[in-house]
Amino acid sequence: MRRMFEFFAVIPIGLFPVVFIQAQTTRAHPSEPAPIRVLLVDGQSGGIYHNWRLTTPVLREELEETGLFQVTVMTAPPGDGNFSDFKPKLSNYQVIVLNYDSPDWPEEQRSQFERFVNNGGGLVVVHAADNAFPNWRAYNLMIGIGGWRGRNEQAGPHWYFKEGKLVSDTAPGLAGNHGNRLPFQIVTRQPEHPIMRGLPPVWMHVADELYDSLRGPGENMTVLATAHSDPKNKGTGHDEPVLMALRYGKGRVFHTTLGHDVAALSCVGFITTFQRGTEWAATGKVTQSAYSGEVGRRFR
Ligand code: ZN
Repeated sequence: MRRMFEFFAVIPIGLFPVVFIQAQTTRAHPSEPAPIRVLLVDGQSGGIYHNWRLTTPVLREELEETGLFQVTVMTAPPGDGNFSDFKPKLSNYQVIVLNYDSPDWPEEQRSQFERFVNNGGGLVVVHAADNAFPNWRAYNLMIGIGGWRGRNEQAGPHWYFKEGKLVSDTAPGLAGNHGNRLPFQIVTRQPEHPIMRGLPPVWMHVADELYDSLRGPGENMTVLATAHSDPKNKGTGHDEPVLMALRYGKGRVFHTTLGHDVAALSCVGFITTFQRGTEWAATGKVTQSAYSGEVGRRFR
């Protein structure tokens, strides 16, 4: 009995600050517009490589700290799992953030997802989410390029920058590769795009996987930024796309290949482009221009 009393006595002290902080982050001022409703989907990570249990809270906080977004997290089963408990009402959301990598989804979930983006819903694809769904045609149109899970020349050409221009390369071969996690430079290619406006022409990204040799249809795809894939670190020697903006039907897609782990997600460049990219995918505009650096410091 005494234990129970102690338990209840502790609750109010622990709970009040949490409720207060959440109310503050989702609605800074009553006069501000309603927050953008985000559905963050996680739950599969392509084996042991990506710890979504650690990265999802970071992604969530990076969005909510702006005061612009209200994030709901839903954990999806693997593609061949039981989807009876995973039936999100997508019309409740303006943008879906995928921190999820699994081979396939059932027809019902796929067609609902396609309708959502086709009708103007936003999509944000983070890092290994571009490994997911190799055989789902519409998804590969949404992400433009992807890697691994058996993707080869059938998925589409390689896309990269050569002499400052985006080229497609139909040479056969598997899609998806990266070297060791090292810091690398990111080069802005579309300085006037709302996601990139005011960012430096070149900046250093923290140690992360630099995806190369991605393949896909590459339709309606604008490459916002590239990174040079160094042959000394098992790279291609090409300037590989790392940030992309795409259209699918009436929907907008922001695709970042960055963000392997919590350290990579904590880079100011990742945070800024992720916050802006999510706002752009949801609304077509970017009002999130400043960055305080608070989240990066917290997760480091
Ligand atoms: Zn990774």
